[in-house]
Amino acid sequence: MQRRYDPTDIEPRWVERWERENFSRASDDPADPRPRFYALDMFPYPSGDLHMGHAEAFSGGDVVARFAAMRGHNVLHPIGWDAFGLPAENAAIKRGVAPAEWTYANIEQQAASFRRMGMSFDWSRRLNTCDPSYYRWTQWLFTRFFERGLAYRKAAAVNWCPNDATVLANEQVTGGVCERCGTLVERRDLTQWFFKITDYAQRLLDDEPLLVDWPERVLTMQRNWIGRSEGATVTFSIEETGEEIDIFTTRPDTLWGVTFFVFSAEHPDVQRLAELAGTWDSVKPVVDAARAVAMNSYGEADTTEGAALGVHAINPVNGEKVPCFVAPYVLMGYGTGAIMAVPAHDERDFAFARAHGVPVRPVIQPEGVVLDGETMTEAHVAEGVMVNSGPFDGEASPGSVAIVAEWLAEQGRGEATVTFRLRDWLISRQRYWGAPIPIIHCPSCGEVAVPPEDLPVVLPEDVDFAPGGESPLARHPSWKHVACPSCGGEAERDTDTIDTFVDSSWYYLRYCSPDFTDGAFDPEAVARWMPASQYTGGVEHAILHLLYSRFFTKVLHDMGMVPFLEPFPRLMNQGQVIYDGSSMSKSKGNIVELMPIVERFGADTMRLAMLFAGPFDDDIDWKLVAPDPSRPPGVHAWLGRVWRCVLDAASVGDAAGDAAGDAAGDAAGDAAGDSEEIRRSTHRTIKGVTEDLERFRFNTAISKLMTLSNEIRRELDAGGCPREACEAMVRMVAPMAPFLAEELWRAVLGHSKSVHVSGWPSFDPALVVLERVMLIVQVNGKVRDKIEVDANASEDACRELALASANARRAIGDSVVAQIIVRAPKLVNIVVAG
Ligand SMILES: [Zn+2]
Ligand SMILES: [Zn+2]
Repeated sequence: MQRRYDPTDIEPRWVERWERENFSRASDDPADPRPRFYALDMFPYPSGDLHMGHAEAFSGGDVVARFAAMRGHNVLHPIGWDAFGLPAENAAIKRGVAPAEWTYANIEQQAASFRRMGMSFDWSRRLNTCDPSYYRWTQWLFTRFFERGLAYRKAAAVNWCPNDATVLANEQVTGGVCERCGTLVERRDLTQWFFKITDYAQRLLDDEPLLVDWPERVLTMQRNWIGRSEGATVTFSIEETGEEIDIFTTRPDTLWGVTFFVFSAEHPDVQRLAELAGTWDSVKPVVDAARAVAMNSYGEADTTEGAALGVHAINPVNGEKVPCFVAPYVLMGYGTGAIMAVPAHDERDFAFARAHGVPVRPVIQPEGVVLDGETMTEAHVAEGVMVNSGPFDGEASPGSVAIVAEWLAEQGRGEATVTFRLRDWLISRQRYWGAPIPIIHCPSCGEVAVPPEDLPVVLPEDVDFAPGGESPLARHPSWKHVACPSCGGEAERDTDTIDTFVDSSWYYLRYCSPDFTDGAFDPEAVARWMPASQYTGGVEHAILHLLYSRFFTKVLHDMGMVPFLEPFPRLMNQGQVIYDGSSMSKSKGNIVELMPIVERFGADTMRLAMLFAGPFDDDIDWKLVAPDPSRPPGVHAWLGRVWRCVLDAASVGDAAGDAAGDAAGDAAGDAAGDSEEIRRSTHRTIKGVTEDLERFRFNTAISKLMTLSNEIRRELDAGGCPREACEAMVRMVAPMAPFLAEELWRAVLGHSKSVHVSGWPSFDPALVVLERVMLIVQVNGKVRDKIEVDANASEDACRELALASANARRAIGDSVVAQIIVRAPKLVNIVVAG
């Protein structure tokens, strides 16, 4: 056996052998007595080879899977590819190859890299969302949503990315720009397909308690995105026309402070009212400017911009006439697209009022201050007491919101209302590389779902897929012309494709029965494996994939297809891998390639470096992990020390004629050569590492193993043969550095079966209990007391115990303590003066 630790020799051999031995395959045998564990990782997008971010996420996910398997679970740990979408299409256009060719080549490369990394996947369940055998069922699910009225088409103002030449969902626009390419998004009026996620807004909030172990920040992001607000709908009327206009407000208690009224620039009544009042010339530029910006840039519009409409709104609570304006800070997508403005108590209304010379009238007075609308320099948004508010003077605000809403209802002027910020999910795309929408448009029958027996609607290959503002499928000469499935007349296929986030909303269900041909998934298999035991992936999916999948699951539950409401009760987010303080990107030229490092220093080193860099959800700065790219990360040297410890222990053992057999699956193995001290360390480490891995504290688990390896080294150097300690260490290292552990377990320690099926070591509680030792208390060097203490008692604890000892105090008497010398846990010497 080679003294030097050489992963390039060890690792490739095991990749092949593990695949032959096939122990990462999940068992679907209902009689399998082992508890099931579904270790799910967010599946990768096949754009190029695996990158550093994959290494971090999957290193953590693989520990979860391997740890569960060693603890006796029947583990499902699948892999697949989220393989439709824009990046593949754009890369294919750039390289002049078909998207399918480029995508499948990347998938093969990533699969090879995953194997090289030693990921314990059940390769028999591999799936790609761009395979017709998969998207057949994506399309089928679409038709089921369509039948229930949950997929529908409507004309709407939507986000358009001019660079990607397609519409985007609101969730794919951040700060007014496309989340994929960073281009400023435009607004277009188009007829598009939507999923009715808004029907599930309240349930997405109500089921939060079922998400038993989710990061708080993800829950908060989802809550904010859904944006539930309670308030009231209030009916104003337009003086000049008599028409009624509803507004939504979360603060009906401020109704008496309304001094103007604002329409969104997109409100359908604006042009008519402006033309009536003769203001269209000044209003039109505001409307045109607003139409050019993104749909959801809420809070980003300039709150001083706007123009007077020339008409007036009548406040239903006091009959007052107030001027109407049109302004871009009021969004059409939220509430009703018109607002009552209360400048004294709303910051944006205040800024607008000051810019347009509208009066400010306080109706909520904070305690001990009298607000003056003329001199206020900012809105008062905090609590106070209602004033100038008719029947509600003296009521505490905002506590009075509910009673005002009730009063409005009694008066027939409004009602209590709940609104959500969440909009319906726009799922049609004008690009090629996706599943065609399985709808046929018939002049007589309207929208007709493609019948199940005609699925999949196969994506044709002979298409000019260059983006051009309309769907590439529409340009195909023959593809779209079909007979209507309902009346048989001439009809046309829908030529848009389905958003890839629909593909990824159900892939975790398909993994449970990937070859099932009678439906999207086998309900029995899904009931057996789902919900997932642990989900691992990036926080960037907080309001995209994670929200969509929750919605999908609830719809499938309502269709009676799955027996649970939430797919992922436990979620773990990894951090990002950054370089020198900033995210890695092509434009910054700071991308560190993953696989060359793996080839050179080993997959175990890469995995361990990721796991040891810090808490799993923190970002990893690779420059700190490996400052010199020509040298391996620091953990590589530790793996070398583990290697030599076990080699040395084995050779001592062999010399003593101590032939190794297969350990029985408990901690012990053979402890004959282990000292009492190393046994205590071993069992304490087992306890600690077990608890750490249960809570994904990979870095502290590795620290504990480092301490144990140091103690084993000391023991070896002193002539001991700590076989039990070595075996336990190798088994605990196995989920994190699977190659090294396997080589040591089988080739060095002589076991015939894999370390990965050897069982997780257990600890002896008696050995974990701390040893008690005698603390000797001296006064001026004379022994005065002996106290039993924990072996790990701190200096402070020993000092206090010594000073509290009655015998010691008697010896000290009235003398002054000059110095206390502590050698924890064995000795305290109190030196007194005089
Ligand atoms: Zn874009
Ligand atoms: Zn028809």
